[in-house]
Amino acid sequence: MNKLSTLIRKLFPEVWINGHVKKMKIDTSFIKLADKLLGRHRNKRIDFFPANHGRGFRIVIDNKICLWFFQDGDHFYYDGWEVGKYKNGEVTILDELKRKKNFVCDDCGRNFKDERALQIHKGHIRNRIN
Ligand SMILES: [Zn+2]
Repeated sequence: MNKLSTLIRKLFPEVWINGHVKKMKIDTSFIKLADKLLGRHRNKRIDFFPANHGRGFRIVIDNKICLWFFQDGDHFYYDGWEVGKYKNGEVTILDELKRKKNFVCDDCGRNFKDERALQIHKGHIRNRIN
């Protein structure tokens, strides 16, 4: 990023983001829809739940609109929506995922108990002073 770009980003973040979006050829109508749906700057209530069947998750907006997502190979896809009265979610739901960070080798897929074991496996361990 050059100095002018950095300056624009700091002084006019919206201008910088819009330029970035254009450069990446992203459909802005989708972003506008997401802002509207999820209530950007309006603090809409968003709750997150695991799906109650299959491997997936639900995002609930304002306790009324539920968006379903299910696994398709290495990603999730949007499966559709439903409406109803939904309870509040648990905001710490993802904390455990962060703690259980997976240490998987990108090359062979082997699982390791911690970061150090993975680094040793990949030959990334270096002699460190301390
Ligand atoms: Zn490996």
